[in-house]
Amino acid sequence: MPIVNGDSMTAPNSSALDFKNALEILKEEYPERDGIGIKELIDSKIRGGLTYNDFLILPGYIGFPASAVTLDTPITKRITLKTPFVSSPMDTVTEHSMAIHMALLGGLGVIHHNCSPEEQAEMVRKVKRFENGFILDPVVISPKTTVAEAKALKEKWGFGGFPVTENGTLRSKLVGIITPRDIQFHANLDDPVTAVMSMDLVTAKTGITLQEANAILSKSKKGKLPIVDENYHLISLLSRSDLMKNLHYPLASKLPHSKQLISAAAIGTRPDDKIRLQKLVDAGLDIVILDSSQGNSTYQVEMVKYIKERYPELDVIGGNVVTREQAATLIAAGVDGLRIGMGSGSACITQEVMAVGRPQAAAVYKVTSFAARFGVPCIADGGIQNVGHIVKGLALGASTVMMGGLLAGTSESPGQYFVSHEGKLVKAYRGMGSIDAMEDKKAGAGSKDTKGANAGTARYFSEGDRLLVAQGVSGSVLDRGSVTKFVPYLMAGVQHSLQDIGVQSLNELRKGVREGTVRFELRTVSAQAEGNVHGLHTFDKKLYS
Ligand code: IMP
Repeated sequence: MPIVNGDSMTAPNSSALDFKNALEILKEEYPERDGIGIKELIDSKIRGGLTYNDFLILPGYIGFPASAVTLDTPITKRITLKTPFVSSPMDTVTEHSMAIHMALLGGLGVIHHNCSPEEQAEMVRKVKRFENGFILDPVVISPKTTVAEAKALKEKWGFGGFPVTENGTLRSKLVGIITPRDIQFHANLDDPVTAVMSMDLVTAKTGITLQEANAILSKSKKGKLPIVDENYHLISLLSRSDLMKNLHYPLASKLPHSKQLISAAAIGTRPDDKIRLQKLVDAGLDIVILDSSQGNSTYQVEMVKYIKERYPELDVIGGNVVTREQAATLIAAGVDGLRIGMGSGSACITQEVMAVGRPQAAAVYKVTSFAARFGVPCIADGGIQNVGHIVKGLALGASTVMMGGLLAGTSESPGQYFVSHEGKLVKAYRGMGSIDAMEDKKAGAGSKDTKGANAGTARYFSEGDRLLVAQGVSGSVLDRGSVTKFVPYLMAGVQHSLQDIGVQSLNELRKGVREGTVRFELRTVSAQAEGNVHGLHTFDKKLYS
């Protein structure tokens, strides 16, 4: 506060004060820190449950750059990620492309189960097989392919460099490579490609790193670098046109001593889900999430026990829960992690229809403060609309946050963009408890016994239901570009926020909250209005560049 001579703000005897003593005076005369502690914030039985917009975190002291803030955090008792971002197991959010990119960026994508077990297992396999930069399923042709056919393939795919193998398939002996120049002016279109292909090849052995392979490709002056095994069988391909695009992902989520990305998928708790799980495990699954809107059930307890006994290497995340009691049941059953949230999702009408649920900030604090006693990490699932919400979820004790709507508009989510009535580029986003999702009969999807609804929507109804009662809506979300830009933005945002709070890691944040050094302030309705853009006639809310 400024001290102005002759002003009412002038402190009595201010001339006698040594300003340098401010810190000592603060310590001696203000033993209580400014703001309120977490318990005081949350534990008011009269005020009612808070959610993210109802409070703010007070700033602390900055003694480090934002880039020095680390975001390592556990997702289960055994597995740690480098960033706290998880994408939701919803059929408009996470299939293999989202799962791969979330993992590359240090987070995790949980593959939905609104599809057949085989389709879901194939997506898990794609995550496990993914090697950044290497084309694992290149278009391969056989020595019998004609020049005309090669030209047609070039038209179809938009590129013209094809490896030629003995059988015309991957994992068969490499015999040559066709480039667009080889076929461009070749007069006899009926000639086999062997008449024109290059056989003077530069190859690399499988197991090579992307950096090493890129270096060979740059030196070789060739368009493609086939990766082969010891028998000269084609394993994958590196393309010169991808050279500049082959970003390195130092934060990629991998288990120690593994080169593969961590994969996670959701299942239900029905008997059929055991068969589904076996397929996912065979495909290399690392973490399974039991997908239920109310996880405190006999079915889930039995499933957790079954999984822990049958697949001790697999980590199980239970949920969803919003109370201590729900959490206790699942912790006792042996879960490795918990997922918190009921009714806070952006496409969710559970609280309106079921009259059950809990405001998300209250739910996150209540569950995490209990689960922390047992070392069980928690995911704050749903209701994340911006970076601030992420930080608040983490400050309340969550180890990670799960996002649906925020990621559904990225290019890595399933589905195509379309233009809305207002002329905006959008993508479909729907709650898994929406009538649309429950009635969707994707080819091969599970549970026809439940009125044709798919397995992934089973979290919202029971076996004997005659009528589907919606707990979600379907709609659309705005285009957000690629997660390769959006997630780094979220990460930088969280780093800047933690810098403002004065903590250098998520561990420090949680410790500060626990010990009362990180302080909070409630926000009145007008404080919320003040904290948002106000008074401008028009504005453009560009979030990052
Ligand atoms: P969002 O990030 O706010 O969009 O919330 C995503 C979360 O909403 C998911 O991870 C689910 O927990 C939850 N959810 C998904 N579909 C539904 C639904 O139909 N009803 C209620 N909650 C849903």
